[in-house]
Amino acid sequence: MPKVASAHVDLYEVLEISQSSSKDDIRKAYRKAALRNHPDKVPESEREEASMRFKAVQEAYDILYDDDKRHLYDTHGMSAFNGSGEPGMAGAPDLDDLLAQMFGGMGGMGGMGGMPGMGGMGGMPGGRPNKPRKSPDEVQDYHVSLEDLYKGKTVKFSSVKNIICGLCKGKGGKEKATAKKCSTCDGHGQKEVLQRRGQFLTQQVVTCTTCNGNGSYFAPKDKCKKCKGARTTEAKKMLEIYIPRGAKQGDKIVLEGEADQVPDQEPGDIVFKIVEEEHPIFARAGSDLQTTIDVTLAESLTGFSRVVLTHLDGRGIELKHPLTPGAILTPGQVLKVPGEGMPMKRSDARGDLYLVVDVKFPGQNWKPTHDMVEKLKEILPKPAAPIKADTVDEVTYDPRAEIEEFGAQDGQSAWEDEEDDDEPAQCAAQ
Ligand SMILES: [Zn+2]
Ligand SMILES: [Zn+2]
Repeated sequence: MPKVASAHVDLYEVLEISQSSSKDDIRKAYRKAALRNHPDKVPESEREEASMRFKAVQEAYDILYDDDKRHLYDTHGMSAFNGSGEPGMAGAPDLDDLLAQMFGGMGGMGGMGGMPGMGGMGGMPGGRPNKPRKSPDEVQDYHVSLEDLYKGKTVKFSSVKNIICGLCKGKGGKEKATAKKCSTCDGHGQKEVLQRRGQFLTQQVVTCTTCNGNGSYFAPKDKCKKCKGARTTEAKKMLEIYIPRGAKQGDKIVLEGEADQVPDQEPGDIVFKIVEEEHPIFARAGSDLQTTIDVTLAESLTGFSRVVLTHLDGRGIELKHPLTPGAILTPGQVLKVPGEGMPMKRSDARGDLYLVVDVKFPGQNWKPTHDMVEKLKEILPKPAAPIKADTVDEVTYDPRAEIEEFGAQDGQSAWEDEEDDDEPAQCAAQ
């Protein structure tokens, strides 16, 4: 298989980022690109190509996320990496490992860290950078079927997140080394930039990209060997979320402290926001459910005792009709089944199930004999008294008309007239 990251490939283009992107940007772009090119997310025919792109994305990330390699790439291009191993890539990573690492059970985790604190710089002369007490929460949508919301569900998945480097304990440098103050931001970790907003120039505080907002950094020889000065390393962890019975759209499931770790901060939470998937049969409103049941004309008139519906947990729902002798079901009639709606959270109560009756009349294949028709006339209620009129016209009709045709002819001619001249339609038509 040809190596994808060959000399002419621009690694920044592969990740669709600019040369000035921060490490955080690179990580986000990597996860986005890897997810899009996930070989499981494309048709079979495109799979080979997707897995090539996937490898290219991984290789671009391996180089650009490593400060030393990125510097080499920026100064010497891919030629610095096409040799045998050092300092290039130690062989292409195994795709299966990558997939397991990236998507073990769920796609696109993490990479959602928000902006670091944007606090003003004033009032803290020479002080440490302003940082939020807690690292950003990672919020993402989580799609759940109505079946799973009805029954409840436990989902296990593996998550890759940043943890404080175990070797330097988040310092970023070797034990006896001291960090140099960042000259770009004068140790503030943030800098003020002027931005044009329409006619105005506004001052904005952004995180310093030279020191990644730390205010200081270690010389290459002083960097921690494990995290290479990043202060954090990536680690894989199995997580479990529980979707309670009766959970609904917008509910949040919070995994406390499971977001990326950031030195000197409490780790934020991973938050899943439930998105209820549309169901082909049931509609939900709060804890009530609604659906349509089909009964034949004969059943509506004469009764039945059968399963009319499979519920969300697979149970058959059986109805007996009629409740009182002689009662019939009419089209659009609504039957309410108490306690067969959605479960309510933290209780045994349930909503109700509303069944809208659709009466299926006999189709074109029904060919009653003359005797049958006469029998029906005899059995069914008689028509109302005849309408009296002085003159009577018998007319023909189209038995398969559409109600959309109603008024369409007049409407069309009125439009044409208006376009032709400015006269009102009714005058032009005369
Ligand atoms: Zn700086
Ligand atoms: Zn370290």
